[in-house]
Amino acid sequence: MSTPKAPHLFFSILVITLIVMTFPRVALSQSSSSVQEIQSQVSHQFGTEISFEVTYQTTKAVQSIDIFLRPQTVHETLTERMTLVDNQTASYEYLVASNYRIPAFTKIDYWFYFTFSDGETFESEHFSYFYDHNFSAVNGTALDWQTLTNGSYSAHWYDGEPEFPQKVLDAAQNGQEEISKYLNLVPTTSIDIYIYTNSAALREALQNTAPEWVGAHASPSRNVALVNIIPGAEETTQIERQVPHEITHILLYQRLGESYDNLPQWLHEGIASVAELYPNPNYRKYLDEAKATETLIPISELCATFPSETEQVLLAYAQSESFVRFLYTEYGSAGLEDLVTAYENGTTCENGVQTAFNQTLSQLERQWQIQTFDVLTAPDIELSEIFVTWIGLFCLISLVPLIILIRLMRPRN
Ligand SMILES: [Zn+2]
Repeated sequence: MSTPKAPHLFFSILVITLIVMTFPRVALSQSSSSVQEIQSQVSHQFGTEISFEVTYQTTKAVQSIDIFLRPQTVHETLTERMTLVDNQTASYEYLVASNYRIPAFTKIDYWFYFTFSDGETFESEHFSYFYDHNFSAVNGTALDWQTLTNGSYSAHWYDGEPEFPQKVLDAAQNGQEEISKYLNLVPTTSIDIYIYTNSAALREALQNTAPEWVGAHASPSRNVALVNIIPGAEETTQIERQVPHEITHILLYQRLGESYDNLPQWLHEGIASVAELYPNPNYRKYLDEAKATETLIPISELCATFPSETEQVLLAYAQSESFVRFLYTEYGSAGLEDLVTAYENGTTCENGVQTAFNQTLSQLERQWQIQTFDVLTAPDIELSEIFVTWIGLFCLISLVPLIILIRLMRPRN
């Protein structure tokens, strides 16, 4: 494939920009005594700018119009003064580079605040705009998303094999069935899964806030999952691993709401990992290597966050998956339900397991290690204790004749 020459590239970007920016979405507001009709138009080019325009009819002289912006991803409202274009139009350009970098697939709520020359004010109703990933600087092209929906799940794709969206929807459904063996998790709101075929473009959608090792991502509060599927021999295993994992994070949020953040990290990632239809075959290797070199991470260190180094992160995932699987084997889905409920009610990482299983985290960790690595199992401990007792008895018995012998051999005065 040849590299396009600079003017050619500039022209392509210009055309794409025009295409992306030419179809603004229009929203209509109800009239008021001061303002008869408000129409708003919004368009954007992802990562560059969002253009807002409001048209209105009023008999009064407008002194100023402010726009209020509230992206779904932040708990703050931005206020900006609009430019009065003429006596019925005002505009505002949100320049992404010099403002909060809104991640892709975010709903933005916005509304207008009019101040008239006579001091009267008017606040419009609230509108919303969906800020999608409509242009990729990484790919150098507009992203033309298409959608396939089945029940609560929608798969969106712009590239890749034509069967990708169906495979993704199947993996979502099968993943939901898999996780329901462990916990009662069902979708209460529709879930959108965006399929990428390039990890750099996926990271661009997140505004490069994710670490480089990230291959997939869930934004549970927005019901959005991003997966990265490279066409080829591995595509099915990638889909069957990533899709169930990411939707499980979203299903957990749909069940727990704000309490989602109370769950320890090892439980979040452990539950999401056991949902994977094609578990990571390397996890067992990481566990055995860490056990052999005595570098397993204490579970208590996986409560708040995961380590930042790539190798440690993989071990943290492997341990979380294995630990949750152990809890399921020992206590069943009822035990996992109790555990999630304990955290949902708001308790510490340590107290949650104590409430659900009447054991400390370190006691459970010890049992997990015994079962996982086959170290000195309980019968072995009993056998070794018997062995030590017999050795002690043997020494005692041998000691009596030895003392007698020494006394007999001692020269007498
Ligand atoms: Zn995860």
